[in-house]
Amino acid sequence: MSTAKIIDGKAISAEVRAEIAANTRRLIEKTGITPGLAVIIVGEDPASQVYVRNKRRACEEVGFYSEAYELPEATSQEELEALVERLNGDKNIHGILVQLPLPKHLDEEKILLKISPDKDVDAFHPYNVGRIMIGNYDFLPCTPAGVMELIHRSGVSVGGKECVVVGRSNIVGKPMAMLLLHDNGTVTVCHSRTKDLAEVTRRADILVAAIGKADFFTADMVKEGAVVIDVGMNRRADGKLTGDVDFESVSQVASYITPVPGGVGPMTITMLMKNTLKAAERTI
Ligand code: NDP
Repeated sequence: MSTAKIIDGKAISAEVRAEIAANTRRLIEKTGITPGLAVIIVGEDPASQVYVRNKRRACEEVGFYSEAYELPEATSQEELEALVERLNGDKNIHGILVQLPLPKHLDEEKILLKISPDKDVDAFHPYNVGRIMIGNYDFLPCTPAGVMELIHRSGVSVGGKECVVVGRSNIVGKPMAMLLLHDNGTVTVCHSRTKDLAEVTRRADILVAAIGKADFFTADMVKEGAVVIDVGMNRRADGKLTGDVDFESVSQVASYITPVPGGVGPMTITMLMKNTLKAAERTI
């Protein structure tokens, strides 16, 4: 029995943000270009409103210019597409983010296709998804990119390791598997149809849990000494945030573990800042 080292997402996130802020200052001094991010939110979803506020705050922290568009629920497809097109042509804006989910009457896929791939700082456009697949990319989706940063900055090497990703969404699981593969991991992807999940997860040297089920992964599903990354963000009945991993028991067998909150969560917005800086640098 061991007690896992905690991977401190808040501290690593602060470290990365300080680097982004320093590079931003250099970019402004050298070129006069200030990275600019536009965030669009449609409707009144309270969780989305919190994300948008946090993104604006993060922009201020690293020295970016930012614009927030808070549009009414009744916004039409045409209006939203027209806004995205205008921002595509706006020299002060380098990154465009449309906060998901959108209200049901809007066609999410069509909107995401409208965002110029050069300003697609979420890396959801099929063009950027394809570039990630072939390993020649400018932008990485923020959550998986944040996980890789946590792994690397904790001194964990991926090369040759058994990596098991549980969850196969386009936002987390699939790109996560691809990034671990690019980093020379031997990667298995599990999902709701996987037979004997615990048998697979017990093989993992690096286990990434991204299913959205509170405290689902217990110590008996984890190999002694594994690195456990918990992407899950679930609300308990008492309102408390919890991950997909049963932290109490798993931290007794893992060698490294990310807590929730304070693990992967803080990295996601930081990676958005990194992509926006990159988008601005690419315009030079
Ligand atoms: P999705 O709901 O899109 O995908 C969940 C995936 O988990 C699916 O592939 C599903 O399988 C799989 N799954 C569900 N139940 C099981 C099970 N019992 N056994 C095995 N696999 C299962 O979720 P997301 O990928 O968008 O998000 C996953 C979690 O990560 C959520 O808790 C979300 O809140 C969190 N999240 C956190 C972020 C952060 O910044 N920290 C950012 C984004 C997400 P199948 O495909 O077969 O249905």
